[in-house]
Amino acid sequence: MSCSMVFGPVYSRRLGWSLGVNNLVGKVCSYSCMYCQAGPTVEMRIERRKFYDPGLIARCAASSCKSVNVDVVTFVPNGEPTLDSLLGRAIRAVKEACGKPVAVLTNGSLLWMEDVREDLMDADIVSVKVDTVSEETWRRLNRPHPLLRLDRVLEGIAEFSRSYNGRLLTETMLVDGVNDSVEHARMVGSFLGELSPYKAYISLPLRPPADPRARPPPPGRILAYYKVVEDVLGSGRVEVLWELEPPSYKFKDDIIHEIFNMVRVHPVRLEGACRAAREKGVDCESLVESLRREGLIVVEHEGEKFIVPSARLLPGRWRGEGRSA
Ligand code: SF4
Repeated sequence: MSCSMVFGPVYSRRLGWSLGVNNLVGKVCSYSCMYCQAGPTVEMRIERRKFYDPGLIARCAASSCKSVNVDVVTFVPNGEPTLDSLLGRAIRAVKEACGKPVAVLTNGSLLWMEDVREDLMDADIVSVKVDTVSEETWRRLNRPHPLLRLDRVLEGIAEFSRSYNGRLLTETMLVDGVNDSVEHARMVGSFLGELSPYKAYISLPLRPPADPRARPPPPGRILAYYKVVEDVLGSGRVEVLWELEPPSYKFKDDIIHEIFNMVRVHPVRLEGACRAAREKGVDCESLVESLRREGLIVVEHEGEKFIVPSARLLPGRWRGEGRSA
């Protein structure tokens, strides 16, 4: 049974120990955000289609849930999870197989479709991207599929927020000089007020981005943005993710395979990978050498070392399903 769609668990401040599900094959998205940590979008689309069999996803997640303790199972692919037309079935199957809450991280661009909203209703937690409500900035920052319209996207997100009974979170990525002004904060804050999320997170491009121009704004500007949004939503309902999560990973048996599957979704911090590998008796140097043979390299970004695909060097292979289990 190939379980390359399941990775981690990875520790997340927002969710706890999270087992990741990459329910897509390849970098498939409706956006190609300049800050994307999974690299540029290879297949841009807005039509939904089938990827993995929901039963297979559930069996793979259940097998991981049995061997390591997790708090939540999160659909967090290297693209937009709602492009999977079987997502609703996969969410229900995973919930039943693992007995854990299920979270989905979505860019929200397809929530104007009724079937997408319905598919997400069974998720316990949904995090929706709201980087901007300005058409010009949206095109520059999120680089959407040409057939998407921002007014429709925002209306879809608002419609979902009115009918969803689970925990709604929002995530706003701030990029220096692009969407970080007080004026943007006022517009986004007003929209978030309409959504009334359980919590609004402000994140920063701290991992290697698709476009090297995507940098975090200076701290003063982030703070000013935060205050404007907090004025709208109220104290304790907005949080800035100033730093990356502590680099905590739990490996089971095949460390290289597990890192490989994680790196398809986001760069992995070398420090945490080495620490977890040492617990399995593998030293950091040997780990880096083995990763290099598999096409993974170490790069520095904002003073941190990350394991990333040389995919970006070997896109043909990276577009595939990765190594089989
Ligand atoms: S950040 Fe998310 S929405 Fe943007 S391109 Fe990457 S996967 Fe798609």
